Amino acid sequence: MEASSYSRDLTDKFAEQALEEPQLLFRETIRCPSCGSVSLALETYLYKVPHFGNIIIDRGICASCGFKYRDVRVAETDKPKKIIVRVEGEQELRYLVVKPSSASILIPEKGYESIPGPYSPGYITTVEGILSSFLEAVKIACRDSDQAQCKEHAEWLSRAIEGLESFTLVMCDYEGTGKILGEKVVIKNLDRECKLRNKLK
Ligand SMILES: [Zn+2]
Repeated sequence: MEASSYSRDLTDKFAEQALEEPQLLFRETIRCPSCGSVSLALETYLYKVPHFGNIIIDRGICASCGFKYRDVRVAETDKPKKIIVRVEGEQELRYLVVKPSSASILIPEKGYESIPGPYSPGYITTVEGILSSFLEAVKIACRDSDQAQCKEHAEWLSRAIEGLESFTLVMCDYEGTGKILGEKVVIKNLDRECKLRNKLK
């Protein structure tokens, strides 16, 4: 499933709330993954934002084709890890998430996976926002596939967004640059479940 059609992307909101003027770390024109010309102007900024501390945001736009690239990551890199949240209601749905471009998101009980390609965006969101992105992906996938099964997935996700379903949310953070903020967050080492889904290596 694609996470690019993201409905609850809070990245710009956090960037606006930065506690200081963002600091330009890096500026370069690179090859555009969409059209292939060396015309993607990429800028990397350090933001001091509420809750997360220091966040690095890459933003790029291609002068030839208009392709937009963005990534988000925490500045204080940790070791690669598996971040697990047992979601049992509204409280966990509000947990804030830094989802770097390289990280995978899984809901193992339902078999849902968001596995990024090399140019998937990174973003800041909430657990609820991740569910919304899965719901959007289901709606897109359902345009031309089995209707009954689609309806079932859409209904489950809608109930989950309302806090009526319990499930496990997993972020496979391969580069140690992701974060989920909340009391019930459990951090483990990357295991087979995550390693099998690392398409970037
Ligand atoms: Zn381009």
